[in-house]
Amino acid sequence: MERTLILLKPDAVQRGLVGKVLSRFEEKGLKIVALKLMKITPELAAKHYESHKERKFYPGLVKFMTSSPVVAIALEGIDAVKICRTLMGATFGADAAPGTIRGDFGVSRSFNLVHGSDSPEAAQRELGLFFPENTLHYDYAAYGWIYDPIEELKKG
Ligand code: UDP
Ligand code: MG
Repeated sequence: MERTLILLKPDAVQRGLVGKVLSRFEEKGLKIVALKLMKITPELAAKHYESHKERKFYPGLVKFMTSSPVVAIALEGIDAVKICRTLMGATFGADAAPGTIRGDFGVSRSFNLVHGSDSPEAAQRELGLFFPENTLHYDYAAYGWIYDPIEELKKG
């Protein structure tokens, strides 16, 4: 099993799309292992977006992400990082395919509703930043039907 960090960005919260966007991940079969509404501090934003520091869009991105609360979520599943990125769609709503979160709910080139870790290494780092108190471990009844218990769960 793999874990990934998802952020429902300020635009998702302010537009009343938290439930709909979270449902995309839940319905796909990802297990929620942590979830909280929080305000991102400038310090946390700087750590989280460290790799974008030199980019032209960085100041606007930090301003956006710290402007209003986000919902931080840790999700678990086999290949969770890749599956979540696929569900999110391309970075800009205008380019993202219909059926993806960004493709269905937005058109902006900066307000794009959702963040998802882009590699298992990034996920570990980002989960440490947003959930230093650790995520939960519990039995998820649905796993027995989301995955083939003989073929998949024994490997995962
Ligand atoms: N972003 C932006 N303008 C750009 C590129 C990115 O405002 O030209 C923002 C956007 O919110 C994006 C975030 O910066 O989600 C991180 O960019 P990245 O290229 O990592 O895209 P992602 O991994 O989120 O698809
Ligand atoms: Mg990225």
